[in-house]
Amino acid sequence: MFNKLLKSKSGPLTAELVQSPGMFGLGKVPTRLAPASTTTSICGYCATGCQLKLHLDQNGQAINLSPQANYPVNLGMACPKGWQALDPLDASDRGTTPLLRDPATGQRRPIDWTNAIQTFVSTFKSVQANHGRDSAAFLSTGQIPLEEMAFLGLLWKSGMGFLHGDANTRQCMATAVTAYKQSFGFDAPPYTYADFEQSDVIVLTGANLAIAHPILWQRIMRNERIPKIIVIDPRATETAQAATQHIQLKPKGDLALYYALAHCIIRDKRTDPESLANTEGIEDFAEFVKDFSPQFVAGQTGLSEETIENLARTVSEPGKRVSWWWTMGINQSYEGVRTAQAIINLCLITGNIGKPGTGPNSVTGQCNAMGSRLFSNTTSLVGGHDFTNQEHRAKVASGLSIPMENIPQDSSLAFDEILRAAEEGKIKALWIVATNPFHSWINSGRLAALRENLDFLVVQDMYHTTESAEVADLYLPAAGWGEKSGCFINSERRIATIKPVRKAPGQALTDFRIFRLLASAWGCGSMFDKWTDPEAAFLQLRNLTKNRPCDITGIESYDHLDHAGGIQWPFPEDITSDEKNAIPDAAERRLFEDGNYHTPNGKARILFEKPAIMPEPPCDLFPFLLLTGRGTSSQWHTQTRTAKSEILKKLYPDQAYVEIHPRDARNLQIENNQKLTIRSRRGEMSATAYIAPTVQRGQLFLPMHYPEVNRLTHPSFDTYSRQPNYKACAVDILIGR
Ligand code: SF4
Repeated sequence: MFNKLLKSKSGPLTAELVQSPGMFGLGKVPTRLAPASTTTSICGYCATGCQLKLHLDQNGQAINLSPQANYPVNLGMACPKGWQALDPLDASDRGTTPLLRDPATGQRRPIDWTNAIQTFVSTFKSVQANHGRDSAAFLSTGQIPLEEMAFLGLLWKSGMGFLHGDANTRQCMATAVTAYKQSFGFDAPPYTYADFEQSDVIVLTGANLAIAHPILWQRIMRNERIPKIIVIDPRATETAQAATQHIQLKPKGDLALYYALAHCIIRDKRTDPESLANTEGIEDFAEFVKDFSPQFVAGQTGLSEETIENLARTVSEPGKRVSWWWTMGINQSYEGVRTAQAIINLCLITGNIGKPGTGPNSVTGQCNAMGSRLFSNTTSLVGGHDFTNQEHRAKVASGLSIPMENIPQDSSLAFDEILRAAEEGKIKALWIVATNPFHSWINSGRLAALRENLDFLVVQDMYHTTESAEVADLYLPAAGWGEKSGCFINSERRIATIKPVRKAPGQALTDFRIFRLLASAWGCGSMFDKWTDPEAAFLQLRNLTKNRPCDITGIESYDHLDHAGGIQWPFPEDITSDEKNAIPDAAERRLFEDGNYHTPNGKARILFEKPAIMPEPPCDLFPFLLLTGRGTSSQWHTQTRTAKSEILKKLYPDQAYVEIHPRDARNLQIENNQKLTIRSRRGEMSATAYIAPTVQRGQLFLPMHYPEVNRLTHPSFDTYSRQPNYKACAVDILIGR
């Protein structure tokens, strides 16, 4: 069942970085303050899941941190965000008391927790009584521990009796989830990070790893097989510039390209019979891709036939290990699921799965996106189950002592459907937890109008100043990363703990504690009697996973996770003692080594569909195509936290900038740093010109971190995953405004 265990290597880079800050080192542990003790915690930003060593004073408060040298993920490295992870805890705009908006004045005023909890409960009970179970929803996050996610999802649906809730992982991972589920029968990213170091060919597509996941880029740099690194991206990203080969295709030409690669591989009989025997659908697929000859696809992709033919040979070279890695360039698309599956198909037909250095590998975004996928009780029933499956509902009901009738029979509306229902007045009240959709949601201008339609908006967050918190009726101050315990699951399925190393300010409470107070006040507290603390919750959730592909019943405790250096799922209780004893020295494992997938017949499905038409292509009025993405490794999403660090702020431009090709700039007589207005059909924003051939002619790039950017983006969604299409919309440039 398990793959060969792979021993982690440590190299000189690790020691150097720990001793003297190098590429990602921004400060040493101060020698003037001798820490009293240390503890460890997984970083609370991205899904790489680096472990940090926290240096504590005599009162157990963190005074500094350094990357953990022997942790199998980061091997002693951290990016700037990790190094500065403590700074945001000290920000002056931390919420220290609940705030309630006074309807008469429109001003928010401090209230105590008793009043806040009563207001929450009485308002949501009234909404439910007057408008029904589907008249309110929560919007949550991939940034809180899985114990809190599960508590929220269960409290809302089984305790309070509402139906709808989704998380911001919809903006990030929904496409990969759906693609894996449809192809493999379960949302199962098959890889381990060691695969970065064991590939002969590494294809990065829609993934700017060098700045978005810099530690994973460092893992590639450790690959002693001297891999060919191929970047497929419309933009000459930092990663593309450092790669062996940059395939700079037209935006959204990727799906046609992958079908053309399959066309060449099947035509040339370079498929892997052993792998194909474990799939279904190859005959129909072979027929389908006959239409996608390199000649036919060249125009759609902007690539030469020779480039396509060469790439097809490179990714199907017999005896070579080829791994494919993708992030938001694939996921955030109107046809993301089929594009991700086109990558999965290439791995299946060439036998690049279930072996070292291979895999169709989706890299997750948020620190606990994988936790959300398995435990948030939104799209899937908690513990990797299915709301529509009666056996699963019965198992969860009995495992958690919840009446069967309290478990809904369907998953909830998706994020965009919740917001549309709010626009239409069907959803009257929203509860937003640790996310900031008034900044991050596509076509964000609609959110302001939507707010007017809501009777009640609650925002629970570390800061009372986020775009979402500012417009809430009730604000609940929450403890953040560093002030609570629980578990995250990283991109390679590794479960590990976070620790409280600081006291939350004022009256701020952990989300876990807030959920307990709400459960009690709602009258369903007894349902959560056993949820006394995060670890008690974890042990119950662990038991629920029994016999699921994500079975983690072999994990004994938080201590066990710490001792092992994190544990990848699956880890069932019947894991052999050899395998158990091998941890922590050799804690790497990948899926599908035995060619068995989680579908009813055990075969992977080859799924495909004709490429769709771009929802909003450039036109005479809006002649540029806008691309969006991460700006720097010092910025995180809506900058709720990274903007609180004076050091991180020095590492990126304060104001929004737009990348424009030199020839477009020359034609429009635009100079570097000139102030421009970028306008779409939905809104406009200011940005200074950054003239660079990173984008192709006719394209612009804006970093997503600036709040105005999503005024422009086009609200189109993948049909299957409902993930927003952030990456391509038509815009114009206005000069002199
Ligand atoms: Fe590691 Fe990501 Fe944290 Fe950076 S932000 S230290 S890459 S987990």
